[in-house]
Amino acid sequence: TIRTRFAPSPTGFLHIGGARTALFCWLHARKHQGKFVLRIEDTDRERSTEESVQAILDGMEWMGLDYDEGPFYQTQRFDRYKELIDKLLEEGKAYRCYCTREELDEMREAQRARKEKPRYDGRCRERTEPREGVEPVIRFRNPQEGAVIFDDQVRGTVTFNNSELDDLIIARSDGTPTYNFTVVVDDMDMKITHVIRGDDHLNNTPRQINMIKALGGEPPVYAHVPMILGADGARLSKRHGAVSVLQYREQGYLPEALINYLVRLGWSHGDQEIFSREEMVEHFEIEDVNRSASTFNPEKLLWLNQHYIKSSEPARVAVALKPLLQARGCEVEEGPMLEAIVRSQQERAKTLVEMADNSLFFYREFDEFDEKAAKKNLRPVAEAPLKAVRDELAALDDWQPEKIHALVNAVAEAQELKLGKVAQPIRVAVSGGPVSPPIDETLSLLGKETTLARIDRALA
Ligand code: GLU
Repeated sequence: TIRTRFAPSPTGFLHIGGARTALFCWLHARKHQGKFVLRIEDTDRERSTEESVQAILDGMEWMGLDYDEGPFYQTQRFDRYKELIDKLLEEGKAYRCYCTREELDEMREAQRARKEKPRYDGRCRERTEPREGVEPVIRFRNPQEGAVIFDDQVRGTVTFNNSELDDLIIARSDGTPTYNFTVVVDDMDMKITHVIRGDDHLNNTPRQINMIKALGGEPPVYAHVPMILGADGARLSKRHGAVSVLQYREQGYLPEALINYLVRLGWSHGDQEIFSREEMVEHFEIEDVNRSASTFNPEKLLWLNQHYIKSSEPARVAVALKPLLQARGCEVEEGPMLEAIVRSQQERAKTLVEMADNSLFFYREFDEFDEKAAKKNLRPVAEAPLKAVRDELAALDDWQPEKIHALVNAVAEAQELKLGKVAQPIRVAVSGGPVSPPIDETLSLLGKETTLARIDRALA
């Protein structure tokens, strides 16, 4: 079976690039009825944080990227790394290096002076005696001849000469294993068949392949996905706006929209833009991922978000909207009221935040009237029609949108006013501002009591 893994380091938020990698790993596993593993690479104890782990887990859950195994934590596997480091030492495939920082600096200095690439020259390879007062690091004995050649599923055949690779440190002087080594052990132990990751790791791959082989394992298939750029051509970063997955949740994006956006970032299927999850799984092929970098386009993401808000079931949108309303101090119950609010705004809202902000008045009293809208639409200008509507509404028992609609129409006619000249003052009176869903729906959702109280407030 095919087994993929997403292996983030919890040293910051889960960003767009990581999320796309996770999605591609997930899709590849799902497509082939394989397994998807989550592995938290938290060996850098100084930079790893609890919050970051939580952000990864929350982000994965929000995006619906479910994993079959894990989360595994590398910090819980130190015994295993130690065991294999000892094994490599015993077999002569790794060695202790006693070089001091000063010696290494000197060595690199000399290499630079000779216009050579700085690299460890292997001077401790044949050393047999320890060195007084120096805690050694452990280095992997990289082959010196030949080449590492692998068939990258995105980039094609990639070749590195072993002469370019130096002997990597696999354990620091305090005994803790280094990144490249833990990855290799885990990919092997977790029987990963396909490593899909950012191409910033490409240079690590030949070293990892050599180490897996030294450990007696079979190297997985690799696919290095090109990076994501901002509009200015620089690597995507905070400067370009929101890059954290959970920030998009807060800003009112549906995960469907983000996922759909991410899958198209470097992958395509004809000119299709909208993909359901099933369609993605059906059509995705890792080999079809673009070789060149992709540019992040926030407008397109916003467009997709609007598309999904508009075309999703109201009940689905309501589930996503609810926490945003709650975060804004509203007491929200799922149910017909919330779904009706969604239905009344689905057509227009670009984000759920917009929808939430425009819906607050359904749940709580607003603080003040929008000044401009009040001046234009309330007292004294629209006092007469507002009063008339209020009296008619007070007498209306059947509080249905159609009834309200007919009533507002009748008042407008009686007052010889255009419908808008009546509807807009009501809107400002009940919502505090100039935008709301159609007035009949708005009043019907607000209920009779609140509607009358708010009109009274506007007239007071
Ligand atoms: N932990 C690494 C990172 O966050 C990824 C390792 C890998 O995918 O091999 O960049």
